Amino acid sequence: MKIHEYQAKELLENYGIPVPRGAVATTPDEARGIAVRIAGRVVVKAQIHAGGRGKGGGVKPAASPEEAFEAARAILGMQLVTHQTGPEGKKVRKVLLEEASSIRKELYLSLVVDRSRGRECLVAMASEAGGMDIEQVAATHPGKIVRCAIHPAAGFSPFQARKLAVGLGLDAEQRKAFGEIVRNLYRLFLEKDCSLLEINPLAITEGGKLLALDTKINFDDDGLPRHPEIRQLRDPDEEDPLEVMAKNANVNYIKLDGNVGCMVNGAGLAMTTMDLIKMAGGEPANFLDVGGGASPEQIEKAFRIITSDPNVRCILINIFGGILRCDRVSAGLIQAAGNIEAKLPMVVRLQGTNVEEGRRMLQESGLRFTVADGLYEAAQKAVALLG
Ligand code: ADP
Ligand code: MG
Repeated sequence: MKIHEYQAKELLENYGIPVPRGAVATTPDEARGIAVRIAGRVVVKAQIHAGGRGKGGGVKPAASPEEAFEAARAILGMQLVTHQTGPEGKKVRKVLLEEASSIRKELYLSLVVDRSRGRECLVAMASEAGGMDIEQVAATHPGKIVRCAIHPAAGFSPFQARKLAVGLGLDAEQRKAFGEIVRNLYRLFLEKDCSLLEINPLAITEGGKLLALDTKINFDDDGLPRHPEIRQLRDPDEEDPLEVMAKNANVNYIKLDGNVGCMVNGAGLAMTTMDLIKMAGGEPANFLDVGGGASPEQIEKAFRIITSDPNVRCILINIFGGILRCDRVSAGLIQAAGNIEAKLPMVVRLQGTNVEEGRRMLQESGLRFTVADGLYEAAQKAVALLG
């Protein structure tokens, strides 16, 4: 789960990490009021669940309450396009107003779960080349990023904080402040079951102080049941409507950018199916695992979700009939396709118990099913349907 910058900054503050004074507004009038209270230069920042806002025009400085009003008026309601939103952008409903800092340097600091490392799976990363071009730095000057893996049993040790601080070229006093920040960040990460915690930029101000000017926090969904205070930070406006629909239907669904819709039972089979679609030259429109049961109702819900994505031009259905027999799957597919008047061409690949009966039912249904035998063959047939 993701949260907004203003919510993440509140969490940082609770953990003793310095952030600028600020408050969130939903109207230009409110924004002006906050700027009056801050009394000084402010920055008006679009609150959406995506980064790259600065370059997209979603972060504007304002020297007076009147300018803050104007900046908020320009940003609120805009469809903000950044390199993380996709070309359609995201509608801005809230802005954060905060004290503008005089920045000497912008650093990067993050804690992230690195699954490729196995046991030592938490990694701290820092760079003295922080700010809006960090992706570029990572791609062209990876040496400018210092990393250290944190063993879960040993925890985060002071020598690791020093290693990062030295890599950032900090002076003695800043090193101490930095050590405090990473220690608190690590505590926050563990206590709230985060999956990503990023401060970018972590600014060194003209006065030499460290200050978190932007932050991003993602949480592990599996940890949410024990954090009601985090769950209530959810903003449904920011979530993909199809993913919300899937969550309510108990279907595991992740929307992707392609045009071959996928309906599969089992997460492993679903991932393999996506791989084979790509191998056949196509692009999957989604990951979808209907679950082991795959009842006719469940199949119908999955159909509705897949066909609500306007990019989908054909559907590949790959079901392994184990405990659930293939003839039951076919009955479910025919019922679902009939109920929602499926107009899209479909390729069905069934294997397992009663497979002959299942295929015969599909072929005789009068619906637009292409039946495939092998998995790769199914992927090729689906891609061929795109024309
Ligand atoms: P994003 O990462 O989405 O582009 P940021 O919050 O990092 O958004 O803002 C972009 C840039 O704007 C920062 O790198 C920093 O230079 C500047 N900035 C952000 N907040 C402040 C602030 N409170 N005071 C001064 N400059 C800021
Ligand atoms: Mg940033």
